[in-house]
Amino acid sequence: MNNKSILNELSPYKPGKQVKEIKEMYGLNQIVKLASNENPYGFSENVKDYVLNSMHEFNIYPDGYTSELRTAVAAKLKINEKQLVFGNGSDEIVQIICRAYIYPGVNTVMATPTFPQYKQNALIEGAQIKEIPTIDGYHDLEGMLTAIDENTNVVWLCSPNNPTGSIIEKETLHSFLDRCPKNVLVVLDEAYYEYMESDLDAKMIEQLSAYPNLVILRTFSKAYGLAGLRVGYAVASEQLITKLDVARGPFNTSTLAQNAALIALEDDQFIQSSRAKNNDVKQAFQQFLTSIGWHYYDSQTNFLLVSTPISGEAVFQYLIENGFIVRPGELLGCPNTIRITLGHESDMKQIQDLLYQLDQEISKENE
Ligand code: PMP
Repeated sequence: MNNKSILNELSPYKPGKQVKEIKEMYGLNQIVKLASNENPYGFSENVKDYVLNSMHEFNIYPDGYTSELRTAVAAKLKINEKQLVFGNGSDEIVQIICRAYIYPGVNTVMATPTFPQYKQNALIEGAQIKEIPTIDGYHDLEGMLTAIDENTNVVWLCSPNNPTGSIIEKETLHSFLDRCPKNVLVVLDEAYYEYMESDLDAKMIEQLSAYPNLVILRTFSKAYGLAGLRVGYAVASEQLITKLDVARGPFNTSTLAQNAALIALEDDQFIQSSRAKNNDVKQAFQQFLTSIGWHYYDSQTNFLLVSTPISGEAVFQYLIENGFIVRPGELLGCPNTIRITLGHESDMKQIQDLLYQLDQEISKENE
């Protein structure tokens, strides 16, 4: 049986280790997972009430048009309902975009490091990949523009970028979009949108009519805290969405996920409080890192990419043995870094103590 030959060269996604597995491995009672940029404050209480107190009809297929959630998201974003397509997480939207727009003979341009699923899915569809290194964690949009040629079909922008946390500034983004050929699809992934400072928001959804080649991705997995339910969506012109919709499975988001997302969307208070707590924790942690002289990248998200004086793998190992799971940068294409999701204040204090001790030990060894 022949498969696509590229599948022999790629590996499946390597997930962060599960909490249970690590507890057993290191004999720990407590473990804090700060590896997947989940919301440490959970999710809206209203979603909890819905899940616990409703009669769920799991025998019935979900609404394949995601009607109620669609109406609510469209109203919130002030767009036409036909400008939306929903996915099983924005991961699936990335897959759908690749399925629809990438085929052998085309190339696709993206930053490096960035969210790895762009590359993975584009490779599976047979594209040549052009990766343009970030500059201090920021997209090099001039470099990306230069990389575009007559075979480029899709450009991936991630703002804020995972794993660096840095945004694409408004002016830079506009200047890029104005000069990018209109036959090139530009994907702007805003998975961490809700964490951004509002005055940095480029408000591209409001300007979609000027950019018919732009598609914007959002998710309920991060600030809304529904990563386990899998709902993300794309916003674009109606024409573009129609194409993506053809490549979508008919029942790709579950009833539970659709209803939970609808309820979560209405709880702005939860988002505001998550943002505020995240900001406080971020500031305190940044101050700590500065105090021990460790560099970190500008972040408008709920995680920080931190440069480490020894390998990221070694810091990861040290932290895991002490009950904290982070993501070693070596797995993300950033050697000698770790990516830490910003957790509860008390957990961050503990991680600070651990990093402080580690830094002292490294300094002693280097004396
Ligand atoms: N885009 C970015 C930049 C991400 O960091 C993630 C999650 N790690 C996703 C997309 C996918 O998120 P989800 O599929 O949960 O919506």
